[in-house]
Amino acid sequence: MSFGTEAWLADTVRTLRELDVAARPLDGAELRTRYPALAGLGGPALAEPDAGVLLAARAMAALRARAAARGVRFLRGTAAPAGAAVRWRGRELSADRIVWAVGRALPELFPGRTDVTPVAHDVFRVPAAGPFTAPGQPAWLDHVRGFYGVPGTDGRSVKVVPDLDAADQSPDQVTEYLHRHLPVLGGRRVRREPCGYADRPGGDFLLDRHPDHPHVWFLGGDSGHGFKHGPSLARHAADALAGATPPPPRFALSGRSDP
Ligand SMILES: Cc1cc2nc3c(=O)[nH]c(=O)nc-3n(C[C@H](O)[C@H](O)[C@H](O)COP(=O)(O)OP(=O)(O)OC[C@H]3O[C@@H](n4cnc5c(N)ncnc54)[C@H](O)[C@@H]3O)c2cc1C
Repeated sequence: MSFGTEAWLADTVRTLRELDVAARPLDGAELRTRYPALAGLGGPALAEPDAGVLLAARAMAALRARAAARGVRFLRGTAAPAGAAVRWRGRELSADRIVWAVGRALPELFPGRTDVTPVAHDVFRVPAAGPFTAPGQPAWLDHVRGFYGVPGTDGRSVKVVPDLDAADQSPDQVTEYLHRHLPVLGGRRVRREPCGYADRPGGDFLLDRHPDHPHVWFLGGDSGHGFKHGPSLARHAADALAGATPPPPRFALSGRSDP
């Protein structure tokens, strides 16, 4: 469910309809009747009946199980570059191809070698109450006040995020937002959870070779939107590593034109 100015909603409805995406504008009265949990955010609103929420932890568990079934072996622990190889638990591991897909840790592991900047963007969680305890409540994007939220599918907690860098976020902002607009959650304890991503100039992904070691690859630079693109980005990475198709030039390290 999205909340925005009349002009923003009209533009968005037009765009979604052009793309054949179901979109339904709601006024305040309809919002109250159909989505009482979000009634305090007021209309106008835009419902996208075919939209959904990706459950990242479950998706990763499923991916891991499928990979294991195909023979992938998982080693736990912190890895560090060791020249063209990998240091892991005091051992040096080498391979015909090495991919560093470590999210926002990339610049720390390879200082000055990538154009990735780590960005902290924490999330806040409150225990669910009232209508939020019913499973299947919609996620919302509140463009008017600069917040978004995702009710847990188990009806136990609600994730609420001010759309600001972590340095500018505070639990008090979340509490005040809830008190004003979603009062059923207003008195609940707000818990902060660290989160962050890997920004890149222009917001494109990074898929490129280490400048000194052609068999070592950097993969990441999600700029806060990486999860939903995972399967498609993985296809690019698999093709590039197999030598089948070079990565899109826009995924190259800044200043490189020969990935
Ligand atoms: C508040 C917030 C909201 C977001 N919302 C969305 C959204 O709506 N839609 C969307 O698509 N994406 C969203 N994202 C972005 C999404 O979470 C990221 O794009 C995605 O997680 C990036 O995946 P990754 O594998 O590149 O990095 P990560 O998910 O950060 O994974 C990197 C992994 O590498 C591990 N690691 C790091 N260093 C080492 C090391 N030295 N040795 C071994 N392991 C290491 C880390 O522990 C971690 O497990 C959001 C992110 C945040 C913070």
